[in-house]
Amino acid sequence: MLDSVLGGPDLPQERKLVTAIPGPRSIALAGRRHAAVPAGLTSSAGVYAAAAGGGVIVDVDGNSFIDLGSGIAVTTVGNAARQVVARTSAQLNQFTHTCFLATPYEPYIEVAERLNGIAPGDHEKRTALFNTGSEALENAVKYARVATNRPAVVVFDHAFHGRSLLTMSMTAKNLPYKHGFGPFAPEVYRAPMAYPYRWPSGPENCAAEAFSQFAQLVDSQIGSDAVACVVVEPIQGEGGFIVPAEGFLTKVADFCRDRGIVFVADEVQTGIARTGAWFACEHEGIVPDLIATAKGLAGGLPLAAVTGRADIMDAAHPGGIGGTYSGNPVACAAALGVFDEIENGQLLTRAQAIGEILTRELKDIAASTDIIGEIRGRGAMIAAELVFPGTRTPHRDAVAELARYCHNNGVLTLTAGTFGNVLRFLPPLTIADNLLIEALGVLRDGFASL
Ligand SMILES: *Cc1c(COP(=O)(O)O)cnc(C)c1O
Repeated sequence: MLDSVLGGPDLPQERKLVTAIPGPRSIALAGRRHAAVPAGLTSSAGVYAAAAGGGVIVDVDGNSFIDLGSGIAVTTVGNAARQVVARTSAQLNQFTHTCFLATPYEPYIEVAERLNGIAPGDHEKRTALFNTGSEALENAVKYARVATNRPAVVVFDHAFHGRSLLTMSMTAKNLPYKHGFGPFAPEVYRAPMAYPYRWPSGPENCAAEAFSQFAQLVDSQIGSDAVACVVVEPIQGEGGFIVPAEGFLTKVADFCRDRGIVFVADEVQTGIARTGAWFACEHEGIVPDLIATAKGLAGGLPLAAVTGRADIMDAAHPGGIGGTYSGNPVACAAALGVFDEIENGQLLTRAQAIGEILTRELKDIAASTDIIGEIRGRGAMIAAELVFPGTRTPHRDAVAELARYCHNNGVLTLTAGTFGNVLRFLPPLTIADNLLIEALGVLRDGFASL
């Protein structure tokens, strides 16, 4: 199955279709999959991957697609990036697992030191490692509860925090994430998100009104002395790349500080260079008490982290936190490779440049269609929200149609949004300008074909 194609940065950077999409080998794999893998697991693409690198994914039939999704914001430094491959290969040849809870090792400590060094704030910090974003958020809540001795967790409309029982309960959207999977975890409360485009009284009132509704929920309904933490994505990912109205997050963070509530930033999607800064919080000068990271952290190997104030992180009793695989040494080696790639490749600046190209090209497309309601995001995390002309009514079908058009023409995109009406763009930061522009040209043709 195309074993001869090696992924990584040397993979030819081109969009090239050599079979019908999906091709015969992908169709054969889909048949085996239906017999072996349950139906509740779905994939946005109909093609199966054989190799990936730079800004492309090559499928098992030899078709080369432009990658605008990075495996859902994971391969920020590119697929099979040089330093990730070098560091993980070296680690694989030394040992693959001893368990940090049994016989600890240096790469774990080094990842913790690196994250403590880049996380916002001058306070003393600690980092604990986990395997997935959900697991990091579960543990952030555990730290907040044990440190405050309070039960409640406050989250927001449009939030996505994961699929485990607690994080599914914290997630806003019913279908597909929650439907039929209840009962949900208790003590999870939801406040409105400051979503400027859809704020009833207009974007100019959004930050102040959303904050006052949040404050009222905490003070009057839950009681602030019952709230362990507020968990918020500084830019909501699955919810549709919603950038909270300016000032909202700062007000929430200040409010939490006044009341001894732990402010948790879920930077699982936004963190590690995606938005043009190490953390999206930095764009508004916010210093969270705890930060959860995962997706971009280890170049595709499963690794997640909670980084935060030493007094909160040290509050858990010895043995209270951990996991058999948490902070696996190969995944830690990958994360160290990711830090090298970002620093040596100046990828923070690259993320900003990609954001400028995406925004410029999408604005240009918006000039020739009347269904783009808003273009928003930061850095290499930009989305277009589609609506019916002259309204704010979500246009879900157009998004599905455009994603299909792009897929069939060699461009892999992702969708998002509580209403399923958002096209989101999360290219690897190693994509070349010309490839990115070519992909957006395909999207433009897709709009023209609607
Ligand atoms: C993906 C995601 C999660 C869950 O991460 P998993 O690794 O899938 O468990 C949590 N929060 C945000 C913001 C995410 O984007």
